[in-house]
Parts: sequence; structure tokens; C-alpha cells
Amino acid sequence: MPSVLIAGGGLVGSVNACFFGKRRWNVIVYESRSDPRGKENEKGKSINLALGFRALSTLETLGLKEKVIEMGVAVKEKIRYEERKLPVLEKLRGLNEGDFILTINRHKLCQFLINEAEKYQNVKFNFNTKATIFDTEKHILIVDAVDGQIHAKGDLILACDGAHSSIRRSLLKVSGFGFNQKYIDIGYMDLSLNVHNSSDLKPGIHYSWRTNDLIVVALVNRDQSLTGE
Ligand SMILES: Cc1cc2nc3c(=O)[nH]c(=O)nc-3n(C[C@H](O)[C@H](O)[C@H](O)COP(=O)(O)OP(=O)(O)OC[C@H]3O[C@@H](n4cnc5c(N)ncnc54)[C@H](O)[C@@H]3O)c2cc1C
Repeated sequence: MPSVLIAGGGLVGSVNACFFGKRRWNVIVYESRSDPRGKENEKGKSINLALGFRALSTLETLGLKEKVIEMGVAVKEKIRYEERKLPVLEKLRGLNEGDFILTINRHKLCQFLINEAEKYQNVKFNFNTKATIFDTEKHILIVDAVDGQIHAKGDLILACDGAHSSIRRSLLKVSGFGFNQKYIDIGYMDLSLNVHNSSDLKPGIHYSWRTNDLIVVALVNRDQSLTGE
């Protein structure tokens, strides 16, 4: 069977590992971090993800949608608090009848996807291995591993190494390859809210408090804890 090398074992990398694993390709994932399983949330990563229709239908194709739904909270409604306005409970915009967004812990989803990908015997994750360069002439992926450098070859190479992709950086040297990046001028922060009594806030509702220059959002998790941002 053909082989695919995947640089990055985050959400996109591990979903791809599932897809190619299912097609019986030989899959090797190079992930620069250590194995996230058995660990708490990763620093610097947002705690919760809101999965919309596209993410859920991708998971459905893999036969994983129902299991993932059990791990999250389906959100269909929102309450918006603004100065001098009465809060109103409304349907989330853009949802068709029966649709919802699923809020889910990013770290747990990532662990789950790696476990699912590894159920295919033809999928192998190599942690603590950083794909540094894609050599466009030799078609080799150069990977830094703990015990030296690997020059890996595959029929297909997928760059799933996130927003600061090393593979993209090496492709920038190829003529005709364009890239531009723009930072938005707002800040973002995840909040773990330690509340003694969250019973006023209910799961399944997206809460937001808004002023001119600040939006605080809160979601009730499956275990009744609160995540805010
Ligand atoms: C604050 C914030 C909130 C977000 N909220 C949502 C949301 O609610 N819903 C939603 O759908 N999306 C959300 N997103 C977007 C979502 O996080 C991204 O679309 C998603 O993480 C992209 O997945 P990825 O696998 O491409 O990248 P990442 O999740 O960044 O994973 C990249 C992986 O590659 C590894 N890696 C990096 N470089 C290398 C390398 N050189 N070699 C090997 N491995 C490498 C990293 O360690 C990481 O595991 C949010 C993003 C941010 C920043």
C-alpha cells in the first residue's frame, strides 16, 4: 500500500491519520510534542473547541461522531447580556433544525483521535519528533528525533503542523509559492472559572457578556465546570 507521512499530530494530523489508516495506507505521524495521553491540558492551547457542522460531518465519515458527541455538550441557544438591554434566550444563528455546535475539551478530543488512529495497525505516531524541512528537490521530509535526524520518504507528505508550520516555511523557498499572514488587533484569553454555584448557568447555552471593547463568553461543561474566554 502507499505511504503517507504526516507532519503534526494535532487535530488535523490525527484526523488525517484516521482517514488514511482506514484506507490501509501506511501512515507515519511525526509530532514534535510528547504523547498528550495521560496528561492534563496543554499550556497555550485553548481549552474548549466549538465543533460545527463541518467538523461533525468529518467525524461522521470516520464513524466517530456519536462517540465525540458523548464527550461534549451540544449547544443550540445563546443568551447575550448587554448594558441597558434585557437578556434574551435565542437560537444560535445559522443552525438548521436539529443542528447544534458541540463544545468539547480540545485536549481530550486530541487524545481520543490519536487513540482512534492507532487502532489501525498501519498507523504509527512518533512523538518528540519535529519535522523541520521538506526538501523539495529530493522529496524528503527531514525530521529531528531524540536520537538523530531522520530523512523520511513517502508517497504523500501532509503538512499538518499548525499555524507556524515549518513545512510551509521550507516551501516558501520554492518559486511561485505565496503566503501572507495578518494578525488581528484583538486579544484572546481562555479562563477556567472557579465558581461555587454555577446552577444559574445551564449546559447547552452560549452565554456572553458584552461591552464596547470586551466580550466574555461562558459555557457549562459536561462536569458542570465553567470555561470562559
Ligand atoms: C484561541 C483559539 C480558539 C479556537 N477555537 C476554535 C473553535 O472553537 N472551533 C474550531 O473549530 N476551531 C477553533 N480554533 C481553530 C483550531 O484550533 C484550529 O483550526 C486547529 O487547531 C487546527 O488544527 P491543526 O492540527 O492544523 O493545528 P494544531 O492544533 O496547532 O496542531 C498542530 C500540531 O502539530 C505539531 N507541530 C507543530 N510543528 C511541528 C513540526 N515542525 N513537526 C511536527 N509536529 C509539529 C504541534 O505540536 C501540534 O500538535 C481556535 C484557535 C485558536 C487559536
